[in-house]
Amino acid sequence: MIPEEPSRIRRLAPPCHTQVLSITPSLSYTSSEHNSKQRPDSLHFWETSDSREAHDHEAWEPEWSSYRFSMLLVCNNDRCLEPVAVVGDRKVEILQSSFDGDFEQIEYFYPQYVHPSPPLIIIADSYPEPVIKELRLSFIASWSDFSSAGNHIRSAVERLLDNLKEPKTKLNKHGKRERQSLHARILGLASRDKELSESLLAVKWIGNEESHSDQLTRDNIFDALDILDVILDDLFIRNRSRVMILRFRGTPALSPRSRGTHLLH
Ligand SMILES: [Zn+2]
Repeated sequence: MIPEEPSRIRRLAPPCHTQVLSITPSLSYTSSEHNSKQRPDSLHFWETSDSREAHDHEAWEPEWSSYRFSMLLVCNNDRCLEPVAVVGDRKVEILQSSFDGDFEQIEYFYPQYVHPSPPLIIIADSYPEPVIKELRLSFIASWSDFSSAGNHIRSAVERLLDNLKEPKTKLNKHGKRERQSLHARILGLASRDKELSESLLAVKWIGNEESHSDQLTRDNIFDALDILDVILDDLFIRNRSRVMILRFRGTPALSPRSRGTHLLH
């Protein structure tokens, strides 16, 4: 649907984590009794007024045209059948399809809004709820508002630092407590885990509009989410967050002999 690398399209898993959303539902559930009736294709599009006016121009070509579309997708899992509404822009490109001068019209659909947005990375039950909340907001924004998606990704990092007990404030040289920036908090984490601190700095850098000479792109957002995906898996599925919190509490260095005892409590 979007001209991007296939691995990124495959990740658009619907809420039940089934891998496929399909267009053109052949059945539409209309009531709680699951009464169903045949429905036509759910894809609709209409040419924009600017595009229609441009037809009068002598140099007009089909590639000038632009449309808006709406469609309904449905999860392929029979027990789920979650509907997902999509709206966006449709463009066409004319490509030569043979040496005899035959041409083919290719349609492209660019979603601008997807409701509900499928998770773009795995969301596990063990992830902290405040982190999940920010990630879900970033998924919705990632379809069109990349700056907002970047903000939510940075907020997810803030909430992750809260979970890892990284202090929000610090005493300054005058002995007054002051709020720490996100950057300072991430650097503070390096005393417990240098690699994690560096990875989070990369996420923060990618998700920050000011880091880019132009505006954030969808690829920037996906890159930041890819790194967070690995970080969260490591912390909350492989359970390294527990070790991180033990280190914060000043637990002595975990020697091979003491490690099992510490982790059992
Ligand atoms: Zn599903």
